[in-house]
Amino acid sequence: MKGDGVVWRCWLRLGADHRIELNLHVLGILTLLGVTWLLALGFLPQVFPGWPAGAYWLVACSVALTDSLAGLVHELGHAVVAVARGRRVYRITLYGLAAAARRSSGPARPRDQFAIALAGPVSHLTMACALLCAWQLLPIDNEPLRVAAGFPAVSNFVAGLLNLLPISPLDGGRVTRAIVAGVFRV
Ligand SMILES: [Zn+2]
Repeated sequence: MKGDGVVWRCWLRLGADHRIELNLHVLGILTLLGVTWLLALGFLPQVFPGWPAGAYWLVACSVALTDSLAGLVHELGHAVVAVARGRRVYRITLYGLAAAARRSSGPARPRDQFAIALAGPVSHLTMACALLCAWQLLPIDNEPLRVAAGFPAVSNFVAGLLNLLPISPLDGGRVTRAIVAGVFRV
């Protein structure tokens, strides 16, 4: 482990001359283990009784991984739009269900702020739609498999909607600020 709590690091190339440092923080691993444990021993057996024990662990692990991936996809959504609009993104660190990015500061045009902020919740809603499509294609008599897709579909949908609330520091607050700045030219 590196001194800053990062257990794994790689670089992602975006476009010809833009590299983003991707970090997995030790908290990300601990959150993954904690969420898997809570789901496998607590939530899933209570809500969906009668599965084989191994199925609870497999589904719990799959849900925890998918929701952690959603946190990364959320930040990557911001990053792709930011880079497309000429901003720099230096680093994305995954802390478990949430990720954080270090982007170039400095003033951005309201329409850029609007697009960059909106990309986060839209990423969650896109993941929710993809998982919902997968859920509909899965065999109706295989409850564990359907929960493995349906649970993160719901959590991504809720995360997308919550993120759209016009409250700072949520993305919805940034979207609202960008709209106000664009309309009133402040
Ligand atoms: Zn965001």
